[in-house]
Amino acid sequence: MKEQLELLWELQKIDLDLKQIKEERDRFPKEMKKLEEKQNLEKERFQKEKEKLESLEKERRKKERDLLMEQDKIKKAEGKMSEVKTNKEYQALLTEIETIKESAGRIEEEILMVLEEIDETKKHLMKKEKEMKANLEKIEAERKRIEERLAEGERAWKEKMERKDVLSKQIDSSLIKLYNTLKEKRQGIGIVSVKKETCQGCFVHVPPQMFIEVQKTNSLIRCPNCNRILYFEGDGEKG
Ligand SMILES: [Zn+2]
Repeated sequence: MKEQLELLWELQKIDLDLKQIKEERDRFPKEMKKLEEKQNLEKERFQKEKEKLESLEKERRKKERDLLMEQDKIKKAEGKMSEVKTNKEYQALLTEIETIKESAGRIEEEILMVLEEIDETKKHLMKKEKEMKANLEKIEAERKRIEERLAEGERAWKEKMERKDVLSKQIDSSLIKLYNTLKEKRQGIGIVSVKKETCQGCFVHVPPQMFIEVQKTNSLIRCPNCNRILYFEGDGEKG
């Protein structure tokens, strides 16, 4: 019986490990998806900043075109000077030229302001790009870590399944059957250790005589409260 219980104890540990691997397997894709979302958000944010720069450049080009048009108007108006016949006409033309020059001056000022904003946006963008790259690297590292753990889990899964197969053949089928039934009913735990006269599955006190019997590991003893098979791990854990 002692050997059978020891084998069953090992099987229980393997089953718990398998359960954990399975939980990670289920959890990791969700974590990966979250990382992907974070990655996209970083890129999107940067893209928005870039779009701001593009619209500023567009504004600059438009204002430069406007300025050229104004300058062209000035040239044309100045060209008319030679055709002027009266003083009134001359005065009117001067006023017109003056107005266009003022407008051109305003556009020039606006261009300078846009250029300044472009400069600042470029600096800001460079800083943001560095930040984005650092963040993307962090996310990538996290993704690699998850992938490695997944691969590790798969390797462990294979190993443990193989050992489980071996154990399942060595343990009496009736004992396996009982274990499986208990495991199903009791949150994946069919065999449980007893420490200090207490079942570690339900934490209910085990009668002293029963505890002594469990320590002998000679017979199949089950917790009077949760029905699980009791096991004594030994090694300084007496009493
Ligand atoms: Zn119990």
